[in-house]
Amino acid sequence: MARRLMIIGGDAAGMSAASQARRMKSPDELEIVAFERGSRTSYAACGLPYLVGGLVEGPDKLVARTPEQHRANGIDVRTRHAVTAIDAKASTVTVSELDTGRESVEHYDELLIGTGASGISPPWPGIDAKGVLQLRTLDDAAEMQRQLVAGARRAVVVGAGYIGLEIAEGLLERGLDVTVVELLDAPMGAVLDADMAADVAEAMRAAGVNLRLGTAVTGFTTVDGRITAVETASGPIEADLVVIGLGIRPNADLARAAGIRVGKAGGILVDDHLRTDTPRVWAAGDCVESRHRITGQSVVVALGTHANKQGRAAGTNIAGGDATFGGVLGTAITRFRKLEIGRTGLTEREARDAGFDAIGVTTDASSRAHYFPGAQPMRIRIVAQRRTGRLLGAQIVGGEGAGKRIDVLATALWNYMTVAEVGGMDLSYAPPFSPVWDPVLLAAGKAASKI
Ligand SMILES: Cc1cc2nc3c(=O)[nH]c(=O)nc-3n(C[C@H](O)[C@H](O)[C@H](O)COP(=O)(O)OP(=O)(O)OC[C@H]3O[C@@H](n4cnc5c(N)ncnc54)[C@H](O)[C@@H]3O)c2cc1C
Repeated sequence: MARRLMIIGGDAAGMSAASQARRMKSPDELEIVAFERGSRTSYAACGLPYLVGGLVEGPDKLVARTPEQHRANGIDVRTRHAVTAIDAKASTVTVSELDTGRESVEHYDELLIGTGASGISPPWPGIDAKGVLQLRTLDDAAEMQRQLVAGARRAVVVGAGYIGLEIAEGLLERGLDVTVVELLDAPMGAVLDADMAADVAEAMRAAGVNLRLGTAVTGFTTVDGRITAVETASGPIEADLVVIGLGIRPNADLARAAGIRVGKAGGILVDDHLRTDTPRVWAAGDCVESRHRITGQSVVVALGTHANKQGRAAGTNIAGGDATFGGVLGTAITRFRKLEIGRTGLTEREARDAGFDAIGVTTDASSRAHYFPGAQPMRIRIVAQRRTGRLLGAQIVGGEGAGKRIDVLATALWNYMTVAEVGGMDLSYAPPFSPVWDPVLLAAGKAASKI
């Protein structure tokens, strides 16, 4: 008889696992059932800001695989079904059909938890008002678009992290007056060192964003249940639309209630094969903690790149193969209009907090040979261990061609290279693509000279 794999969560992690297990096992060997509380599967949340901004034509464009396509692939996807409890001793889950309210108990042989994360929503007065939104799902994006059509003119984005920046850009594209309120002294201040973040702030202000740094939100003023202003420690800001972008919290409550071990960072604890501490229960994606390759700490880094890889590795293992997830560096990339922003590993502050004697060295460079049309300025910051010269992290901000250079540094970091080794790497050169000394080589060489 076929064994039964049950998946909770029908997006990146869950459906990667399901698809991989299906590639390796036929329906006769493995039945796969996936429960998703929403009505879509396998969609790119990463594209939501660009959908709101009008760069992506419509929500369907963000869907990689519909429930019907998964079903045709032999995966029994049940949308609008929420799992409300796991009984790990009995190997069952309780499922609620959201449209009928009907409840059922379903048996599994293997269970994969891919429940993702939720946006942090502080208990501020008025946070439930109409017009105060998160941007996590296609439904959130649809609601935001309804607010725009209904005439929202003044938007306030709370939080200047990746999502805050991306949605600020999208709302500017839609012609709104945009204010971004951030508690830290810099946009992306949690993931960039100060001199790099200053370039981001400058780009935002130059684009017309009213950037309020070092400003604490205290609540919202509403009239008839609708947002009219964001209250801050330095006075109110009028608003028709508010987007909260304060980071995430892993959806680990189901697991916790079932006695599955959850870590200090709030994510489900898994080993490098994505096994939880509970027999035949696996977890992947935004709901888990991962090992940081530089600090060794267990961290939550909620990115689609990890969710897909973890899901695939879990699917391989569940189907009897052997795959590991190698950990995270926190490599990420975004842009604000023409400014590309990439980072990997530790900032100088994070490195010091982790106990490294670290130095940070910033280098200004050009994306192409200085005489070649279209050369763009870029700035690279290298963080290294002072004693050994080991690379600990890197950040890049700059024009076209800057951002993806972070992947070279992420590769070096993944392989525990020193800055001297990075400075001597054989990187490509031709005038349309880089100066003869690529900015990565220049920056690593400069850092090596300070060690
Ligand atoms: C606006 C935005 C932009 C982003 N940009 C990037 C980017 O540029 N690059 C990048 O790498 N990452 C990006 N991310 C992060 C990326 O989208 C996530 O890391 C990824 O979607 C995580 O996949 P997941 O499957 O773990 O979780 P999710 O995508 O959150 O999927 C979890 C699913 O589980 C379902 N679910 C939860 N609980 C239950 C339950 N009890 N029963 C049934 N179903 C349940 C949810 O409805 C959801 O569909 C972005 C995210 C957002 C929101």
